[in-house]
Amino acid sequence: MRTVRDIPLHNQKVFLRADFNVPLDNGRITDDTRIKAVLPTIEYCLQKGAAVVLASHLGRPGGKVVPELRLQPVAKRLSELLGQQVRYVDDCVGPQVEEQKNALKPGEVLLLENVRFYPQEEKNDLHFAEQLAAGIDVYITDAFGALHRAHASTSALPSLIFDKGIGFLIQEELEALDKIAHQPEQPLVIVVGGAKISDKVPVIQHLAPLADVVLVGGGIANTFLHGLGYDVGGSLMEKDAATVAHDLWQRFSSQQPKIHVNIPSGKLHKVQLPLDYIAAPNTTPGAPTQIIDIEKERVPEGWLLLDIGPKTQALYRDVLAQAKTIFWNGPMGLFEQEAYSGGSRAVAVAIAESAGYAVLGGGDTESVVEKFHLQGRFRHVSTGGGASLAYLAQETLPGLAAME
Ligand code: AMP
Repeated sequence: MRTVRDIPLHNQKVFLRADFNVPLDNGRITDDTRIKAVLPTIEYCLQKGAAVVLASHLGRPGGKVVPELRLQPVAKRLSELLGQQVRYVDDCVGPQVEEQKNALKPGEVLLLENVRFYPQEEKNDLHFAEQLAAGIDVYITDAFGALHRAHASTSALPSLIFDKGIGFLIQEELEALDKIAHQPEQPLVIVVGGAKISDKVPVIQHLAPLADVVLVGGGIANTFLHGLGYDVGGSLMEKDAATVAHDLWQRFSSQQPKIHVNIPSGKLHKVQLPLDYIAAPNTTPGAPTQIIDIEKERVPEGWLLLDIGPKTQALYRDVLAQAKTIFWNGPMGLFEQEAYSGGSRAVAVAIAESAGYAVLGGGDTESVVEKFHLQGRFRHVSTGGGASLAYLAQETLPGLAAME
C-alpha cells in the first residue's frame, strides 16, 4: 500500500478524506484532537505543492442537510491551526463546488461540506463518487475512524483514482495496532469494558489466543456474569449475547496465564471477570452504594452493578504492572459519575504507569483519559474505536481495501 510520500503531489489536486467528526456544542468545537491529528498530512501535501480539497463526515445527518452538522466551524479552526485561510463551500458536489475546486491553486485548501448530507454517501454510490472525483488527480485518506465503513468517499471514490495513498495518521495507527496484533512482546494484557459485548466479541476471539490475560469490566462483565448464571439485577447487559459470552469464557477457561498474582479466590483466569463490584439501587447521584463480592453475596433485587470494586481494582493493577504490551478498550463502569469512576481511573493510571507498550482504543476510553488528565501518558490513543477493533479482529476494512 502506498503512502502520501510515494505519490507525486506537485501541482496536483488532492482529495484528502479526513475524519473531522468532532464534538460540537452550539457550533463550538469542544475537542479538536481529530483535526490536529490530520495536520501533518495536510501540511505535507501543501509543502509538496498540491492544492488540497478536504472532505469529511460529521455526525449522523441521515442523508439530509442538518444545519448543526455543517463543517463551517471545522474550516475556521483549521484556518487557525494551519495559519492560512481554509475556504469552505456549503456543498460537496455540484457546479458550485466544481467551480471552487477548479479555482483552487497549489498551496491552497478548500473544505467541502459534510458528505453525509447526501444519502448516496452511506450507500457507497458510484455516481456520487464520480461527482466527488471531478477535477481530482490524487486521493489520500487519513480518515482512520471511517476506514471500517464502505461509503462513497472512503470506498467507491478511491477505486476511481489511480494515484492514491494513506496519510501519516493512518500509518501511525496501523503501526501501533500491528504491534498488538502481530507478535506482541509478552505478557500481552487486554482490557475490555464498555457497554456492548457484541461490538467486542470478534476482537476478544482474535486477541485472547495471543494474550496472557483478558481483564473484563463494564457492562460487558455483567453480560459474562449473566451468561455464567449469576443474577445481575437490573444491570446494563446484553441478554442476547449471554450465550456468546459464556462460550467465550469456556473456550479459554482451561488456559492458565503466565502472570502470577495473589488472588484471594484462587487462580487467575485467562478471561478474568471482576471479583467485586460497586452496586447501587439506581443511577441517581447520591444513591447509596454497596460493594458486592460476587462469589459470596447476591445482588440486591433490582440493583445495578456500576463499577468494578476495590479488590478487582487491586488485582487488575497487579496484572497490568507485569504487562509488556497492553490494549485497552472501554471503561470499567459508569465512569461519567464520580461514584462509579474509580475502576476506570485505577485501570487508566495502572496503564499510564506501566513501562509496557500501551495502545488505547478510541471513543469512551479517550474520554476516561481526559477525565483523569492522563493525556500523553500512553504510547498510542487511537482516533477510531470501531476501526481499531475491526482491524485487530482482522476484519477487512473497506477503506483500506480500496487503497490496494
Ligand atoms: P462503549 O461505547 O461500549 O465503550 O460503552 C461506554 C459506556 O458504557 C459509557 O457511557 C459507560 O458509562 C457505560 N458503562 C460501562 N459500564 C457500565 C455499567 N456497569 N453500568 C452502566 N453503564 C456502564
